[in-house]
Amino acid sequence: MVLLYNDILFPRKVNNIIHNFFIKLHNCLKLIRPLLVPPARLDTIIYINMTSLKTHNLNKHFEGVKAVQNLSVQFEPGKVTGVIGPNGSGKSTLINALTGVTPITSGNIVIAGKEKISQMNASETIDFGITRTFQEVRLFEQMTVLDNILVVTTARGPLRALFEKHSKYHLAIAEQVLKQVGMWQFKDKDAVQLSYGQRKLLEIARILAMKEIGKADIIFFDEPFAGLFPEMRKVVVSVIQKLKSEGATMVLVEHNMDLIRELSDTVIVMDSGELLAEGKADHVLAQRDVIEAYLGE
Ligand code: ADP
Ligand code: MG
Repeated sequence: MVLLYNDILFPRKVNNIIHNFFIKLHNCLKLIRPLLVPPARLDTIIYINMTSLKTHNLNKHFEGVKAVQNLSVQFEPGKVTGVIGPNGSGKSTLINALTGVTPITSGNIVIAGKEKISQMNASETIDFGITRTFQEVRLFEQMTVLDNILVVTTARGPLRALFEKHSKYHLAIAEQVLKQVGMWQFKDKDAVQLSYGQRKLLEIARILAMKEIGKADIIFFDEPFAGLFPEMRKVVVSVIQKLKSEGATMVLVEHNMDLIRELSDTVIVMDSGELLAEGKADHVLAQRDVIEAYLGE
């Protein structure tokens, strides 16, 4: 049985209720799975939440710099869109605009069929399950590795946080995601003590934790592999593949073309803030103007 819903079809509040219900159901089923016979039946239940996202004539200017120019692109639900382009071509600015970090100059962002002009605000990004990693990793530096995960999974209100902080549910999620990226052994270290690669893995673990609690439907990765050792790269590849199998919509900014080919369903190429090309990875990467603008640089 495939359970498929899309927030184009449901109002957002209803969607969230359904969403949370299926996350809890999914987690329960995972727990009781060994008790059930035959277990294979559970494998046929797939939970997918797909939120559509596109831009229409999006512009972001900084004084005289046109960082993003008339950009109309679509990020397919449940797919990985690779974003490539030379340094300074506007990739991070595009992510900043779509995640509410920077206000847009003009144009539209369309999420789940709803038009947004001007700035996405923080509560909207949470509401739409939009999350991201930063090119320059951002962590709670004076908190432990474990607390960096708990703080995003635990309810924000101090009273609720008091009760929820040490709930078995949240601790189990934190343990699971930290083990998944090989960071569990560092759980009591402060973030500030971590190496560059470990910091990136902790940020990836935070995304995984948010996905577990149903707060990560659209995920932006801004150069998640940059500066990582091969073993760490493998971890990030497996995380992206896992998230994809769970129906996440992902946007991957990356300079390594082998990784772009391996992970992306479609690719968009930016040059001086404009869309230079878009389409299937192999097709796009073989185009002469793409090679000249980017690969040949
Ligand atoms: P990319 O991520 O593709 O390397 P960016 O989005 O970081 O490119 O930058 C695109 C352009 O916008 C560059 O010319 C950059 O200098 C400029 N830019 C980015 N952020 C700012 C900012 N906060 N203030 C002024 N200019 C900026
Ligand atoms: Mg960048």
